[in-house]
Formats: sequence, C-alpha cells, structure tokens
Amino acid sequence: MTEDLVRELELLREFGFTHLDLPEQRTTKNEEPQHDLLDDLRAVVTACEKCRLSKSRTQVVYGVGNPTADLMFIGEAPGRDEDLQGEPFVGRAGQLLTDIIKAMKLTRDDVYIANVIKCRPPENRPPEQDELDECRPYIRRQVEIIQPKVIVTLGRFALQSLTEKAYAISSARGEWLDYNGVKVMPTYHPAYLLRTPSAKREVWADMKKVMIELGIA
Ligand code: URA
Repeated sequence: MTEDLVRELELLREFGFTHLDLPEQRTTKNEEPQHDLLDDLRAVVTACEKCRLSKSRTQVVYGVGNPTADLMFIGEAPGRDEDLQGEPFVGRAGQLLTDIIKAMKLTRDDVYIANVIKCRPPENRPPEQDELDECRPYIRRQVEIIQPKVIVTLGRFALQSLTEKAYAISSARGEWLDYNGVKVMPTYHPAYLLRTPSAKREVWADMKKVMIELGIA
C-alpha cells in the first residue's frame, strides 16, 4: 500500500508535479456545523439562570428536530408535559401541532420546533416581558444557526417576541412577514385551536401557503 503510494508520487514528480492540492478533509463537523452550534447553544441555555423561571422549571425545553430544517415552528413556552419531558409540543396542543405537520406531509424530524421561552411559566401563566426579553437571544440564535426558509410562529407571544414588534395576531395571521430575510407566516397557536376548532380552517390555509413557498404543495 505504502509502496504503491511512493511509486505513484514518484511518477507524479516525473510528470513535473511539484506539489499536490489535496481535497479539504471532510468531517461530520464540516458537513453539519448547525448540529454542533445548536449543541453548544443548548449547553448555554441549559445552564441559564437569567430569570425567575429557572427556579421553578423541572428542565429547560430547548428545541427539537432537524438542525438544517427548511421549516421552523416557534411556539410560546413549555407547559407541564414539556417541562417533564424536556421536549417542546408533546402535550395536547403538541399532538395537534404534530397532526398539522403530518397533514403537510412532513414529520417532526423534518422540521425544527422551539419556543420563545425555554422554561415553563408556573401554572402556565403568560410569559412576562422581562422573561421574554431575557430568553429572546436564544430563539434568535437558533434561527441564525438553522437558517430556515420559512418560520411559522404559533400565537401572539411567538410572533411578538421573535420580531420584537407589537403585531396583533388577528390581523397579522396568514400574511407573510420578514424576519432578517426569513419568511415568517404567523398563525394561531394550537392551544387556541383546541378551544376554537373552527379556526383550524384558517390555520390550514396558512399552512398551504407555507407548503407552496417550500415547494411541497
Ligand atoms: N405550547 C407552546 O407554546 N409550546 C410548547 O412547547 C407547548 C405548548
């Protein structure tokens, strides 16, 4: 093997080659930097104690799915099931989100799912402004790393906190917005759909727009 290599190199020198341009070594790291960057960020978020929610959480709910996803769903905050399991959208609202993803002919592994708040607010109360402000850099960095083509924000808090703009969900829903060059489709939160099943029709219309944008309609 080594002798063959030596012979080949001698031959190349005879042909006038003075140096070799070797292809850059490809490692998993080069192929999927997003995976490593998300893991690095996860370590930071897991150790976070910037706000009071760190005191009452069982665990941080960081995010789940494909680190190179074209489509990212962003929700509000973990509930009881998510706090216990450490994964976003695994409770009743999560089951509905999973059904929506399936109806789009995708799986949870195809997309990336995260929240604007990483720790469960006690009794599922709405997040407070300082909690949203402290947690915002994390979701923004996740978006920066994953670089999705489309973000679907679920409910008012996700939309307002990601963009830091005071959109009303009723008027913003269903219309494309821009967040740092990424297309954003605001839609209703699945928990709202559990209370108001008639709104599923509007959410499905929004998801069709997303599917067309992603070329999977
Ligand atoms: N609601 C959310 O906004 N996020 C979850 O992870 C679960 C419920």
